Amino acid sequence: MHGDHTQAVRPFLIGSTWTTGQGQPFESINPATGGRNGLIGAASKADVDFAVRTAKAAQARPEWRQMLPHQRAAILHRIADLIEVNAEELADRQMRENGKLRRECVTQAAGGAAAYRYFAAICETMPSEIAPSRGDHLSMVLYEPYGVVAAITPWNSPLTLESQKVAAALAAGNAVVLKPSEFTPTIALRIAELALEAGLPPGIFNVVTGLGAETGTALVAHPDVRLISFTGGTATGKAIAREAAGRMAAVALELGGKSPHIVFADADLDKALEGVLHGVFSSTGQSCIAGTRLFVERSVYEGFVQKLATATNALRVGPPDDAQSQIAPLSSFIHRDKVETMVDMAREDGATVLAGGSRPGDARLANGAYFLPTILGNVSNSARICQQEVFGPVLCVLPFDNEADLVAQANDTLFGLAAGVWTQDFPKAWRVARAIEAGTVWINTYKTLSVSVPFGGFKESGSGREKGFFGIRTYQEPKTVMVGL
Ligand code: NDP
Repeated sequence: MHGDHTQAVRPFLIGSTWTTGQGQPFESINPATGGRNGLIGAASKADVDFAVRTAKAAQARPEWRQMLPHQRAAILHRIADLIEVNAEELADRQMRENGKLRRECVTQAAGGAAAYRYFAAICETMPSEIAPSRGDHLSMVLYEPYGVVAAITPWNSPLTLESQKVAAALAAGNAVVLKPSEFTPTIALRIAELALEAGLPPGIFNVVTGLGAETGTALVAHPDVRLISFTGGTATGKAIAREAAGRMAAVALELGGKSPHIVFADADLDKALEGVLHGVFSSTGQSCIAGTRLFVERSVYEGFVQKLATATNALRVGPPDDAQSQIAPLSSFIHRDKVETMVDMAREDGATVLAGGSRPGDARLANGAYFLPTILGNVSNSARICQQEVFGPVLCVLPFDNEADLVAQANDTLFGLAAGVWTQDFPKAWRVARAIEAGTVWINTYKTLSVSVPFGGFKESGSGREKGFFGIRTYQEPKTVMVGL
């Protein structure tokens, strides 16, 4: 069964059973058109309990628990194969739900498959350790799965964000219960269906759709969930960490950002300009790593910002399935309204709109959740618009005079997710990269992502790391075994 389109309410997956659940079904809306994608089943507290118990039982069964690493890896490779075969359909599905440009969705489908392959390779090759002996014994370190992992994800990039969590958690031997965002509910359902087709034992990857307030909180509170891997807003992340602390459940949190993007006067300014545009406006700015605070050295500030405003005004705002479009709609109407309110707030605080600042006038786009790419000048780093995450196509521009002052301002934020530096003076780039408090720093590039390097945040941008060789350790607990000789 395709598990899709045949029923009025889209069911979710527990074990090998598709169920519409006991919660109140909710509507999925296409943000590019305002049209309905369909009704989605919502998991109640009882449904979540059933999903977690199903996952726990499946994880404990020898067929998964004792599956040899190369066999587990083979299943992950088959999931990757099926994602690749179905990449176009998955891309369309994500585009309909979050309005992202189709070409970005296609790239993300490939990224999802890559995550499964990467963690398949780690699963098959990852060694246990023998530690130096300090006596007449053998000291071993093994890495055990947690058991049931809850994965909770946002709407901006489910194809990649969900894959990197699930692939790593499965490679580590866990079972997963995933709650996707209410705005992007069906990508995970489709991938879980493909995982069953790939031979993953039923119950190892379950998906419960529903709202954060009901389905999400029930999942976080479930006593049998031993690790919560969350990507989303910082406020939600803190609430989850507090709940998890009550029973010492582990958390991995990928949260918000307000990343500084720095252009020194000696940079290749044309390349920097491209990097700044891509860094903030790709995905219509709905990216945790978006470079949203632009610091430009004062001697080149005026000219650079002028060119940037011209280039921003020239970006083509249009439907996500139009190959000419560069800026797609925001992911929902409610989110577009939030972005608009934050731009109004910045104006009230004295910001000058240097580009955009409103919904597009184009009548063709009137039914979608569009907002023009926006640049705000005359702001100080302490202004609300420079301190709060907008998660939309909004860039603040600020001049700086010297390196020390720049670093102080760049770090003057609650967040610490990413940063970018453009300069041809490598020692300077190195100094700044070392001084910035962020999980990722790009030098003469921006938003360059790879599954092979760890990703996560300093400060309130989160705790723990995903991806990279050690990304699998996020989903494992070390166990020491000592043998007396
Ligand atoms: P939210 O924090 O609102 O939601 C994220 C997920 O958590 C959704 O599935 C949501 O459900 C669910 N949720 C909401 N409240 C609760 C709760 N109390 N308990 C359990 N689950 C809950 O974030 P958004 O979806 O709005 O995503 C945008 C945010 O994500 C931005 O702040 C962004 O910075 C961050 N993000 C971080 C990334 C990173 O890697 N650091 C990557 C991408 C985004 P529902 O959809 O029903 O509300």
